[in-house]
Amino acid sequence: DTGITRYTYDVVVIGAGGAGLRAAIAAREQGKRTAVISKSLFGKAHTVMAEGGAAAALGNANPSDAWPVHFRDTIRGGKFLNDPRMAELHAREAPERILELEHWGALFDRTADGRISQRNFGGHEYPRLAHVGDRTGLEMIRTLQQRIVALQQADAAELGDPEARLRVFAETAVTELVTDGGRIAGAFGYRRADGGFVVFEAPAVVLATGGIGKAFRTTSNSWEYTGDGHALALRAGASLINMEFVQFHPTGMVWPPSVKGILVTESVRGDGGVLRNSEGRRFMFDYVPDVFRSQYAETESEADGWYDDPANHRRPPELLPRDEVARAINNEVKEGRGSPHGGVFLDVSTRLPAEEIRRRLPSMHHQFKELADVDITAEPMEVGPTCHYVMGGVRVDADTAASDVPGLYAAGEVAGGMHGSNRLGGNSLSDLLVFGRRAGLAAAAYADGPGRGAVAGEAVDRVAAASARYALEFLKQGGGENPYTLHAELQDTMNDLVGIIRRGPEMAEAIARLDSLGERSSVLSAPGDRVYNPGWHLALALPNMILVSRAITAAALEREESRGGHTRDDFPAMSAEWRRVNLEVRADRADRVTLARRPVADIPAALLALFEREELSKYLTEEELPGQDGADA
Ligand code: FAD
Repeated sequence: DTGITRYTYDVVVIGAGGAGLRAAIAAREQGKRTAVISKSLFGKAHTVMAEGGAAAALGNANPSDAWPVHFRDTIRGGKFLNDPRMAELHAREAPERILELEHWGALFDRTADGRISQRNFGGHEYPRLAHVGDRTGLEMIRTLQQRIVALQQADAAELGDPEARLRVFAETAVTELVTDGGRIAGAFGYRRADGGFVVFEAPAVVLATGGIGKAFRTTSNSWEYTGDGHALALRAGASLINMEFVQFHPTGMVWPPSVKGILVTESVRGDGGVLRNSEGRRFMFDYVPDVFRSQYAETESEADGWYDDPANHRRPPELLPRDEVARAINNEVKEGRGSPHGGVFLDVSTRLPAEEIRRRLPSMHHQFKELADVDITAEPMEVGPTCHYVMGGVRVDADTAASDVPGLYAAGEVAGGMHGSNRLGGNSLSDLLVFGRRAGLAAAAYADGPGRGAVAGEAVDRVAAASARYALEFLKQGGGENPYTLHAELQDTMNDLVGIIRRGPEMAEAIARLDSLGERSSVLSAPGDRVYNPGWHLALALPNMILVSRAITAAALEREESRGGHTRDDFPAMSAEWRRVNLEVRADRADRVTLARRPVADIPAALLALFEREELSKYLTEEELPGQDGADA
């Protein structure tokens, strides 16, 4: 007996991070019966880990800030590959979404005159990040959950049941979307705690499952990021774009293994920390690219002078953009000059008095002491690049977050287009609010509309029964592969062959290895029963990671240029022709991927006029450039 529990909703939201919660609130506010499903505990999502803040052109810290400036920064950060309509909606609506959060009870840090305080961040022209100390994500989740409880209390008063129109299913993982005649009909999954199966009949599903970091060996992401939403969308017939763009943060912890990849904030370098190799050399001086040479110091004494007298000194090369630093560290390690645990040394202990380090970097001090038994006031840290964020995701309509499968919507990190080839810090939290809300509204409207599928009871039962049988296969004893072994092989493949620096032949090798892993993953064994069996959970998530890895690798091999989060050793330059191309990935029934080229939407002339012609000429082809004294000059 597979014992499948069945539920019926108007809108099912998969994921309870910022995007999922905001979507669920919007759908419920439209009066729709809404379910929110999360495979982690309610309240644990990547959103909760976000520190720096949420970007929104409120103009509180600098009145010159306005949405067009935020738009321009976002397009620059994404190297002109962003979906311009998404970047516009995001910049226009982020302030309203932040104020709404405040209205719902979020306690942001304040300016002296009592408005929401805003901090500086990389790539943002003005101080723009609304924040709550270094715990902004926690406050965002707390506020959205509080809003959900308020709506449930309203339903308790009106209908006698707090869950009448909004119910949370925590520790429940969705493994399959149900479609009927090409439309969404529901979702199937299991409860992690007892292994019981659940199926949701629903005309509209919002994917808000976050990212894919666990496909890589070293990542700042936690266990939930197995690319489930990306894979579910592909298998339901939707497409992904920009999958070749993966953001690597230069400094994550490398030791001990249990904490490898955990972020080490950029502030360590901003406050004077320097990078050294095993020979004690400050190697970043060897990696200043020509385009930056005039802005960065050539000697250690010049670099050191910058901290106290920036007007008369050039910046230390440790503060080059993140992708440059990540590539340099990667190269030092590859050439045998790494630290004992495969990173490099980041040293602040010889640069600042212990007291000062404890005052400026309290959480880093605590993190290294607790997790690695390293006292950063007395010894160097070992750090290396870590997979942090995926720019690629479900191709959606900018206004509605609709995928090209009727009834399927996607918002947050699982959606693609908004960030182009590289996301600016702070632009994710605001993205979640803007597009989470839009997805919830559009899903609610669809659930009401004439386009929704007829009730697909039979299709739902059929898929549920098949999915349950498939899931139970893994529990059978004997013979099959160990999911943990395959996962480790997958992570090594992606880290070593499709990581920060990519080369054609290595990616071709990765594709062959992924094919073999794909075959082997069909005969996994996770002996035991259905009650909290982590091996079984991994066996169910592994095919998703393999599919997403295939999408990343195929797109990365195809794109013969370097841009943002995609660096090709064999094609180091950025190409204006490639800027016009989005690579779209689809999958067949056997999880094999195919690629198609789609034109990137044009930036409307009025918004193109925000940029100088000289800057545009670095990105656009000659024919795309506005005239010398053109209409928008
Ligand atoms: P998440 O918040 O990760 O939520 C995903 C949800 O989906 C979870 O509830 C998960 O359980 C659920 N889920 C996944 N798969 C399934 C499934 N199969 N079935 C059911 N549920 C599923 N961004 C910023 O803008 N500013 C910052 O300061 C910042 N700092 C960061 C610091 C760290 C350490 C990290 C890792 C990221 C940071 N980011 C920051 C990025 C940002 O936090 C994330 O991109 C964002 O929170 C993603 O939100 P989301 O709603 O898309 O997904």
